[in-house]
Amino acid sequence: MHYDDSNVFAKILNKEIPCSKVYEDEHTLAFKDLHPKARIHILIIPKSKCKNFSDLLNMDAQFITNFFNGVKNTIKQVNPDNLDFKLLTNNGINAGQEIFHMHFHLLIN
Ligand code: AMP
Repeated sequence: MHYDDSNVFAKILNKEIPCSKVYEDEHTLAFKDLHPKARIHILIIPKSKCKNFSDLLNMDAQFITNFFNGVKNTIKQVNPDNLDFKLLTNNGINAGQEIFHMHFHLLIN
């Protein structure tokens, strides 16, 4: 399955639809989940085409480093008190993935 440019997060990256942004750098965007499942529920996505975690693992090391740097900075920004948190990703339809652009869910209660 190829990356589908019409997915919701691609549209957010293209500014075709809005998001509630919490962090952005050259490689990474983080914004609030529309249907939060915790007090803080943020989605963290790479800016380049990448379907899911399996896809991410096939990217080059620099891509992965850049994205994880954005993940680190997002966590630092939204969690200054170092509360415990969940970082999860649904990888594939049968695991509950609905949007096929790589994203981590960051959940803090
Ligand atoms: P997943 O099931 O892992 O693919 O998660 C998709 C997530 O995207 C869900 O938690 C949705 O609530 C969230 N979501 C869907 N559309 C939007 C949107 N336009 N802005 C922010 N979050 C969204």
